[in-house]
Amino acid sequence: MNNRVIDIHLEKPYCTFDFTKFSRILNSRNSAEFIKAAFTGVKKESNLFTVSTTQGSYSSRILVDATGWRASVAEKLIPGYVHRDMLSFGIETEVPYRREESFHFFYEPDFLKNGVSWLFPCGEFARFGVASYTGETRLQGKLDAFLDRFHVTRDKIHRGFFFYCLKKPVMEGIFVVGCAQGQTLPLTGEGISRSITIGTRCGEIIQKRSWTGRLLSMKARKSIPGWH
Ligand SMILES: Cc1cc2nc3c(=O)[nH]c(=O)nc-3n(C[C@H](O)[C@H](O)[C@H](O)COP(=O)(O)OP(=O)(O)OC[C@H]3O[C@@H](n4cnc5c(N)ncnc54)[C@H](O)[C@@H]3O)c2cc1C
Repeated sequence: MNNRVIDIHLEKPYCTFDFTKFSRILNSRNSAEFIKAAFTGVKKESNLFTVSTTQGSYSSRILVDATGWRASVAEKLIPGYVHRDMLSFGIETEVPYRREESFHFFYEPDFLKNGVSWLFPCGEFARFGVASYTGETRLQGKLDAFLDRFHVTRDKIHRGFFFYCLKKPVMEGIFVVGCAQGQTLPLTGEGISRSITIGTRCGEIIQKRSWTGRLLSMKARKSIPGWH
């Protein structure tokens, strides 16, 4: 923090993992049909949703939006759900680097107003990134200047928005999970484990309640004696 170093000891150790490999393993363990398609529209008639995609249309009484910051489905049904005025933006690159063992966040307003930079070690590599809490997207120059300090050069860039607000998780009868709902932590930009945990929990609730035929609103649930 502007030349001052503050050590924060984490309660739990952090881990890094191969996200693609992880997603493939997770997907191989469920029996759901997985369709790769772009979402194009949604209609709600009575209690039935019909979702249009580039691979056809699908109808269901239950719908979950996990489309990341775009919240594509929720935004179509509830215009303004995305809250474009409350978005942060980050870019990062992963390069060979073995000189650090712990996370480093850099808060230097003279270098980056309303933002942070980071260095995350992951095995033989490290991820270097910069984020703007005001949603500034022209950050490549800042990233290059940050990398220069460590005498490394940019590789492929990963970039994206994340929210600094939590939004309603159930709207117009659809569940919204992960970054779509604002689950990425606003300070650190960490959201993978939260999105997985909350997505899993949402799936459990849907399965449990739909098996019992009792997918009810909170108000209706509270009215059932012994319901939890
Ligand atoms: C630069 C950067 C670095 C980050 N680093 C970390 C980190 O180190 N650790 C961490 O925990 N988190 C990190 N995050 C946050 C993390 O990426 C998010 O919290 C996480 O990806 C949210 O998961 P999600 O499944 O909700 O959304 P996403 O991962 O964004 O997935 C949403 C999916 O929906 C798809 N989609 C969107 N619209 C449509 C449409 N119309 N049709 C079809 N598909 C659509 C998208 O293509 C995407 O595949 C970082 C974020 C950024 C921007």
